[in-house]
Amino acid sequence: NKTPVTVVGLGLMGQALAAAFLAAGHPTTVWNRTAGKADDLVARGAVRAATVAEAVAASPLTVVCVVTYEAVDDVLDAAGGGLAGRVLVNLTNGTPGQARRTGARVAGLGADYVDGGIMAVPQMIAGPGALILYSGARAAFETHRQALEVLGEARYLDGDPGTAPLYDLALLTAMYGMFGGFYQSLAMVRAAGIKAEEFTPMVTAWLAAMAASMPAAAAEVDAGEYATKVSNLAMNQAAFPNFIDANRALGLSPDLLLPIKALIDRAVAEGHGGDGLARLVELI
Ligand code: NDP
Repeated sequence: NKTPVTVVGLGLMGQALAAAFLAAGHPTTVWNRTAGKADDLVARGAVRAATVAEAVAASPLTVVCVVTYEAVDDVLDAAGGGLAGRVLVNLTNGTPGQARRTGARVAGLGADYVDGGIMAVPQMIAGPGALILYSGARAAFETHRQALEVLGEARYLDGDPGTAPLYDLALLTAMYGMFGGFYQSLAMVRAAGIKAEEFTPMVTAWLAAMAASMPAAAAEVDAGEYATKVSNLAMNQAAFPNFIDANRALGLSPDLLLPIKALIDRAVAEGHGGDGLARLVELI
């Protein structure tokens, strides 16, 4: 008596989602533009739908996970009126604006729309640490919460379908900043003949120590007060040319660092040299 679920889009992520529903005992119908990607899932008990319309007709809940919202539009074109009275959960990465437009379109088709952001890689789906953020039609989310919990912790944010993508993009922004800095640091030590694997344990410990200061920075941002006794912008400005110069001397591009230097320079020029780094939030 588990809810039948349809998964549309069987890329790396969609295959993981469909496999999780199957493993949890949900009758699972699948569709992918390139039909062969369903073969493994069908061998494990999934039903292959011949068309998107047939796929959405098979279940009260359809989960879409394709590459972009342009692809989502193609899927909706093909689903047509068949979505009426059903629930569409869209886990494709996109912007808040795309999510809101899609929500309006789906509502116009007579269906309930929930948007989502997957904070996990496919290998993490249905395992510990997988978090999926949802926003949009609350009653529809609650109706299918149990099924969605199969994929990972299901956290509902609010009724605006744009909210989950906003959180998703903000979290990924923090991630890309972190990886950008990490890769630059690996290029630096490698250029000096040091093995990345030797250096990396120091990076993980250092970043964990620095992450511990984030709640205090968040309190500064919320209060709009950045005076610091820890590490002020004037000192950071004085040190920053060292990063640029050392990277150039190693034969490396300092391009990832230059926008941060520009922000610090501007903050000091505007008279904020005594403030902490979190002041930069005001300049972005
Ligand atoms: P893949 O590139 O592996 O798969 C893309 C999927 O989109 C394929 O099923 C592809 O079909 C389908 N597709 C592309 N264009 C169309 C179209 N016009 N009509 C119908 N289907 C189309 O990507 P992933 O599965 O890795 O990612 C899917 C979504 O999940 C993306 O939005 C991604 O940002 C998000 N995501 C992915 C994560 C990851 O770690 N992989 C993590 C978190 C989110 P076909 O097989 O026919 O090409």
